[in-house]
Amino acid sequence: MGTPQVNKVALVTGASRGIGRAIAEALAANGVNVVINYAHNKGFADEIVHRIRQNGGQALAVQADVSHIADLQALFQATIEQFGRLDIVVNNAGIMTTKPLEQITEQDFDREFAINVKGTYFACQLAARYLQAGGRIINFSSSVLGQMIPTYSLYAGTKGAVEQITRQLAKELGSKNITINAIAPGPVNTDLFSADKSEAQIETFKRMMAFGRLGEPEDIARAVLFLASEEAEWITGQVLRANGGFI
Ligand code: NAP
Repeated sequence: MGTPQVNKVALVTGASRGIGRAIAEALAANGVNVVINYAHNKGFADEIVHRIRQNGGQALAVQADVSHIADLQALFQATIEQFGRLDIVVNNAGIMTTKPLEQITEQDFDREFAINVKGTYFACQLAARYLQAGGRIINFSSSVLGQMIPTYSLYAGTKGAVEQITRQLAKELGSKNITINAIAPGPVNTDLFSADKSEAQIETFKRMMAFGRLGEPEDIARAVLFLASEEAEWITGQVLRANGGFI
């Protein structure tokens, strides 16, 4: 981030682990006050808050399941009550179900779309209500959209929806001087990526990267810092494929 964002306030969904944790810590290191949202792992979220406060920053952990609109409303209200303003919303929370087409159930479909798409959509609606002028929304897609990997159809379907929602909202939010963009990481070394893969499969993914390694959460956090910065004020409705040359 070029200019430090001191006194600004960011809400990061799914910030207890993985990419969201790195985003929250990077924003805090740049002077941003951060709300750390989590679904289940209160202990992890509390640890991050503790670390940020020890380093002189301000942070708050708030439990909310992004697939429930009432939880999202409470999350945004808690942010305003604690910090009095909102400048940056990062819709990072997500899940990934990988199964062949014939094994996907109605429950799998509804849950994947509820968390990845409904959660992102209604968080954008609340962001539009609460963000300051000059605000930033950063959604999460995936570079898997450029691939045709068996078992990824449901997950990729949700991320395709996120990209379209991001593009379509740019003009609506532009009238409020809010930018909205998405980041599409390639494979990143987190629970979400490694949960369903053998070592051999992970090696195959590494060979698909320009730099021969998986992304680390911090690689993605730096891309978020850029889109959240004042320097990115002319960028909206775009997808930044921060993927280490994943092909
Ligand atoms: P992760 O390590 O599995 O972490 C997921 C985070 O989301 C956790 O903090 C989790 O909270 C939270 N979460 C899950 N369900 C939630 C819900 N219903 N409400 C609120 N929070 C919820 O995932 P990640 O790899 O960091 O992924 C972050 C984002 O990047 C996702 O949108 C993912 O699709 C996208 N992405 C990841 C990769 C990759 O290779 N890792 C690649 C492309 C895109 P708890 O800890 O409380 O469960």
